[in-house]
Amino acid sequence: MTAEIKLEKIIKKDVSLAEHCSYKIGGVTRFFAQPGSLQELEEIIEYCQKKDLNPFIFGLGSNILFPDRPDNETLFVSLKKMVGWEKKNKNLFLEAGFPLSFLAYTGQPDLIFTHLLPGTLGASVYINARCYEGEMSRILGKVYYLDLKNLKNGIQELESKACNFAYKESIFQENPWLILGAEIKAEETSPNWLNDELAKAKSINLSALDNFFRYFGKGLFSRVKMGVEEKEKLQQIAADRERKKQFSYPSCGSVFKNNYEIGVPTGMLVEQLGLKGLTRGGAKISPYHGNFIINFDRASSGDVKYLIQLVQDKVNSKFGFIPEPEVVIVNGQES
Ligand SMILES: Cc1cc2nc3c(=O)[nH]c(=O)nc-3n(C[C@H](O)[C@H](O)[C@H](O)COP(=O)(O)OP(=O)(O)OC[C@H]3O[C@@H](n4cnc5c(N)ncnc54)[C@H](O)[C@@H]3O)c2cc1C
Repeated sequence: MTAEIKLEKIIKKDVSLAEHCSYKIGGVTRFFAQPGSLQELEEIIEYCQKKDLNPFIFGLGSNILFPDRPDNETLFVSLKKMVGWEKKNKNLFLEAGFPLSFLAYTGQPDLIFTHLLPGTLGASVYINARCYEGEMSRILGKVYYLDLKNLKNGIQELESKACNFAYKESIFQENPWLILGAEIKAEETSPNWLNDELAKAKSINLSALDNFFRYFGKGLFSRVKMGVEEKEKLQQIAADRERKKQFSYPSCGSVFKNNYEIGVPTGMLVEQLGLKGLTRGGAKISPYHGNFIINFDRASSGDVKYLIQLVQDKVNSKFGFIPEPEVVIVNGQES
């Protein structure tokens, strides 16, 4: 089989992006791939260059609003099958598609914040994911990446302190760099249950929030042995996320970043403006969390964008600034 024929088996046609994100929004894309290895990923990138396609790299799609009609010149590449890991010196090396939430079950105190944080390692480095007093920048060793504009340079590496991490920011947002994996500082940790669980998780579409919650919230909790104190911390996080109904409807999590100069979380500003519960088509500003816009009934990307714009306009006229989206809005057309 020639390399090109093999690739054409990996690159799928006419795939619904809604199946590959937590929003359940997104039209049918002309090109889609889920590489299972670094070699396949590199071949896909080379194929894009040869055929003049733009690769759009993503993970579980938990922080993305896909368009109703995706652009035909884009090849959407989800890394969610690249989930390898190994113990490397005093660290754990994780591939980009590794579901971050597994780390909480190692019981290591500074990794517990990842409990029920939907998404992959690669994207969480990209956005410097944070919650419950934890942040990616604090737990990382080296990050490994490919410069998509200079593939001939091969795999590059950066120490965490050189990644320009700030609130929901990293150097990876400023460059065409594809994160391949990263080291997590985990001196004592070498989870013996992880390979079995990764094998189980492979058959589940973790982009769907109900699946994600069932697997990480209930299944894993009942199977992995941990200390009483650590389990209590997991339960507290789960209770807080459940109180905000984070897994009851498709969403992208918080839509906007907070503005620390204002000093009040964006969700509270939305609440003060009385916008909670407002709907447009099948999208709604969550009645339970002002910074969530949920897909309660087959929302289109246009519905969500309308509410994003509305919140931005109202916040701007009352509080004098435009809230910056945290969700990554992918270009394309609305239905
Ligand atoms: C219910 C819910 C709750 C959430 N709670 C939180 C929270 O508490 N704290 C928080 O920080 N976030 C939260 N999020 C957002 C989300 O969990 C994080 O942003 C997570 O890191 C997204 O991972 P992903 O793999 O799904 O990323 P995706 O949505 O697939 O991608 C996000 C962005 O990262 C880029 N990217 C992905 N992989 C790579 C890579 N390998 N190399 C380069 N770029 C890449 C993509 O191009 C895209 O721009 C929540 C989301 C949901 C749905």
